[in-house]
Amino acid sequence: MSRFFTKRLSQLDPYIPGEQPQGGRIIKLNTNENPYPPSPAVLAALDKAAIENLRLYNDPDCLRFRQVAAEHFGLTENQVMIGNGSDENLVFALRAFCDEQTPLAFPDITYGFYPVWAKLLCAPAKPIPLKSDFTIDPTDYHNLNCTIVIANPNAPTGLVLSRADIEGILQTNPNNVVIIDEAYIDFGGESCVPLIDRYDNLIVVQTYSKSRNLAGARIGLTLACETLVADVNRVRNSVNPYDINSLSQLAGIAALQDTAYTAECVRRIADTRTATTAALRELGFEVTDSNTNFIFAQTDAMPGKQIFDALRSRGFIVRRWDNPRIANWLRISVGTDEEMQLLVQAITAIVKGETA
Ligand SMILES: *Cc1c(COP(=O)(O)O)cnc(C)c1O
Repeated sequence: MSRFFTKRLSQLDPYIPGEQPQGGRIIKLNTNENPYPPSPAVLAALDKAAIENLRLYNDPDCLRFRQVAAEHFGLTENQVMIGNGSDENLVFALRAFCDEQTPLAFPDITYGFYPVWAKLLCAPAKPIPLKSDFTIDPTDYHNLNCTIVIANPNAPTGLVLSRADIEGILQTNPNNVVIIDEAYIDFGGESCVPLIDRYDNLIVVQTYSKSRNLAGARIGLTLACETLVADVNRVRNSVNPYDINSLSQLAGIAALQDTAYTAECVRRIADTRTATTAALRELGFEVTDSNTNFIFAQTDAMPGKQIFDALRSRGFIVRRWDNPRIANWLRISVGTDEEMQLLVQAITAIVKGETA
């Protein structure tokens, strides 16, 4: 850090993204990307005319994209904002609704970016412990005087809160914004989008990175009542109104319209998840009931770090954290059937003590 770096942010610990190895023969199961390519409709949309159009600035309002998204979700176009990945949607919302006086509450085990943003925005962080079985007790979030962000399904546990439980949180926090991060909702659980017309304190954030096969296009959605969307847009338009490049706008529209393709990829991933979960349980692993495109697993037979390192040397990258509550656990993205069969073979060999 240089001597010029602002004192206020000197304690900032940036989020560490999962590794993105470039090239090489690696089976990459560490960042919950979709193992299947984007919809063929995306390829068709990114044609010569689209490339020639790169000469012009992109539409900062993403009007066509918002219209298509509004129709998809049964909302109005003013209840939709598009951002550069859900990360950007989340940080814009937190910029709008958190500060020194308005803390941010979130589960102690969840998406690692929430505490980083709280620090960046100088908002006190209020982590709320998950129960010992990693579930969220919704009553822990009743009557808090904080902005609240909850990933539902939660990561890396893969567990869900019901829509009724989230409604209880919304009702008991009428003067605070509740952000539901639905990065994995297409893989399981009940979306809170149908609650948007009834709760003026609800923001739902979704992403294209997991179920819509477009992590590299950087697209996320803020879905909320018009007033909250306008608030978040105030922040967006004070930072970067051109954050969704024109190719991503076209790709986003095409992917959203191809609902059959998304549903088929999600179904395959869910089947692969079921088979892999069963295989790992057979090997003696404890595996949570995942509602996502990743599996969260541990075994008492061998430290998670040792399995992680052994997988790495066999060409598999998965994810783990040093946080003591989950230090023995591995988060494994669901790849193709073939990738997961190879993974289970490798883990079997590792726990049996075979050398690579
Ligand atoms: C992947 C993920 C995000 C980030 O998604 P992007 O749209 O790629 O920025 C946000 N929240 C959770 C819980 C995630 O797992």
